[in-house]
Amino acid sequence: MARVHILGGGPSALAAAYDLVKGSDFDVTIHTAGWRLGGKCASGMGFLERNEEHGLHLPLGFYENFFNQIRSAYDDVSADLRIKSWDKAFTKRNTVVVEQKVQDQWFEWPFTFPDRSGADHLPGDLAGEYIAGNPSAPSNLERMANRILERALQYGTSLAVSEVEGLADIGKSLVAAVRTAAGGLSPDDKMTHLKTAHQGIREGLEIVSAAGAFAALKAHVYFELGVAGADALLNLHRNNRPLSSIDNLDFIEWLDQHAVGGRLSDETRNSAPIKMAYELVFAYQNGDTARPRLAAGVGARGILRLLFGYDGAFAYDVTAGMGECAITPYFLALQKSGRVTFRFFSRLTELEVSNGRVASFKLRRQATPKGPQYSPLDGQPKTQWPATPLYDQLEEGNVLAAGQELANGGFDLESSYSAWEGVGDDVVQVPEGDFVVLAIPSPELTGVQVGFGPNQALWEQMLKKVTGVATLSAQLWLNCSLKDLGWPPTGIDVPDPALIGAFIDPLGNIADMSRLIPQEGWQDPARKGAKNLPLGLLFLCGVFQDDAPPPPAGRPQPDYVADAQAKARQILADWVANAAPAIMPNIGGDVLFVPSEVAGGNVPAINLQYAGANVGPAHRYITSFPGTITARIPPDCRQRVGVSNLLQAGDWTDNGFNAGCLEAAVTSGRMAARAVIGGEYPIYGENDARW
Ligand SMILES: Cc1cc2nc3c(=O)[nH]c(=O)nc-3n(C[C@H](O)[C@H](O)[C@H](O)COP(=O)(O)OP(=O)(O)OC[C@H]3O[C@@H](n4cnc5c(N)ncnc54)[C@H](O)[C@@H]3O)c2cc1C
Repeated sequence: MARVHILGGGPSALAAAYDLVKGSDFDVTIHTAGWRLGGKCASGMGFLERNEEHGLHLPLGFYENFFNQIRSAYDDVSADLRIKSWDKAFTKRNTVVVEQKVQDQWFEWPFTFPDRSGADHLPGDLAGEYIAGNPSAPSNLERMANRILERALQYGTSLAVSEVEGLADIGKSLVAAVRTAAGGLSPDDKMTHLKTAHQGIREGLEIVSAAGAFAALKAHVYFELGVAGADALLNLHRNNRPLSSIDNLDFIEWLDQHAVGGRLSDETRNSAPIKMAYELVFAYQNGDTARPRLAAGVGARGILRLLFGYDGAFAYDVTAGMGECAITPYFLALQKSGRVTFRFFSRLTELEVSNGRVASFKLRRQATPKGPQYSPLDGQPKTQWPATPLYDQLEEGNVLAAGQELANGGFDLESSYSAWEGVGDDVVQVPEGDFVVLAIPSPELTGVQVGFGPNQALWEQMLKKVTGVATLSAQLWLNCSLKDLGWPPTGIDVPDPALIGAFIDPLGNIADMSRLIPQEGWQDPARKGAKNLPLGLLFLCGVFQDDAPPPPAGRPQPDYVADAQAKARQILADWVANAAPAIMPNIGGDVLFVPSEVAGGNVPAINLQYAGANVGPAHRYITSFPGTITARIPPDCRQRVGVSNLLQAGDWTDNGFNAGCLEAAVTSGRMAARAVIGGEYPIYGENDARW
């Protein structure tokens, strides 16, 4: 049987393999660098069997393709899993609290989203309907513009009327404006009316918010974003232009064009909701939080799907590691199919294209399994991934373990910056009838030799524009709960557990992940005298600033990596000591958990926590900067690059969503698989008219 060679082992690769196994007779081989699957969604059990993540990961409620596949994979292998069903692995989160600074004081701004569990769909059902050729009615921009307007005005007016003394008159004007606008006016008249009303009340709101009334500031932001956002969407609708037509503009720049007076007020442009739009997708040039940049169409699409496109809950989080909850079911289901071969420790270095097809590819062999093949889950228990290779299974195990690049020791075989150069090269021939799916992120591909002949310029352009930003991820195990740290402040009612957009740069995203503690190894009876357990667990994540252009991919850069890791730890220490107390007054070195195994040593508690600088080319978060989206190439790239047996998959492709996320990766994998299969079925989210 013909074979599909998938290069890379992240979510896009797994999604492609899953659809190929379910929908075709192809055999599949997954060749991936390193010792595990998951890519940027990977996690592993590290020091004392604690779970260490590549970064805080939240599958969102609109991830139709991801949930569709993962639910099916749970059904396939439920009996073999420690967490038997998808709804036990992913827990609902409907509250996000963003922190906003007003005149040196931090305020909590909670957003609670309605639970849609009772609705007709579970997350993933819509994607299934699409593939079955029975899509529900498509959404449209006008409907969403109206909903944005309604909600924003509703929140804005209720805040203005009920919470702010002295704003009753302004509140009444707002209510009147909403009523009039709702009264069957044409879209143009509605916007003119609202803008005039807004102009009149803006000054009043500014005066009150300048005096520090947080509710007034919120009302102002809701109203201004509602009016500008709705006008911007209605404008696209009227002119029959797709969201992608604004991808050359920055998101704020686009809203400016529709704000009263041609520019959003400073209060709104610096507000927490705007910050959230950039922070969620690490949309900062060179990781510099002073330089936000986000393609307007990508930003608008993301927000619309986030707000209006979810089923079940607004967001989900994992009850154990991402690796166990989101990757293991794929792995076991693919393995069980008997049609998928996994080749770990295989780093792509060259793709040879000749006569318009991929004829062969070259892999750097990073390690030699002692047995016929490497078994990545042979640790304990078998559904969790290890944070380092299982050295016992490798001929070079002792030498590999001696490296110092990973937090738990060892060489970082997932990064082409590693000083470990491997043990040899393998050239894999691609017979006629076979396909190759390139599922390796674009920053890493800059270090892979590829010759596309006449289409090389197009490829180079894509690599130049579709870049990645370095990130910092950290985990703090605590002797206390988040409440004991003083968050949220007394008097603020936040349903538990909340996601926090703290926005104290550079660690802008925080989540209370204490519920993972029982899934970690702390209670292992083998831990002698270890009656001490952590009581809280905070995940933190943000951009990591590049002070200079990153070194080229595909070559060892040990000093660069070591410096970045040291800097990451210092940033975390500074954040805990100096920045975090502004919102968590009781945080400090003494609340950090020190396991009894290492207590009394001379390592500071902060250095016993997890901190990772994701600076390697394959580790970088894929960006969606203005002016770069048209350089992306679709998963079915055969015509564009002129190679008859090549597809590509990943969040860096032109996949209809075009932002760095799990759903984009899975969607692209499905699109690549469809091209191999030769199917014509639609895929949910691949174009805006169909979600
Ligand atoms: C800090 C951080 C936080 C994030 N948070 C979220 C979130 O909350 N929600 C969300 O939806 N998304 C989040 N993401 C994005 C998400 O992780 C990615 O969108 C997703 O992992 C992309 O999948 P992929 O398959 O395209 O690529 P990857 O996950 O990068 O997988 C690429 C694969 O290729 C392999 N590889 C690399 N180089 C080579 C080579 N030369 N040869 C062979 N194999 C190679 C890698 O080992 C890996 O297996 C986050 C990302 C980061 C960095």
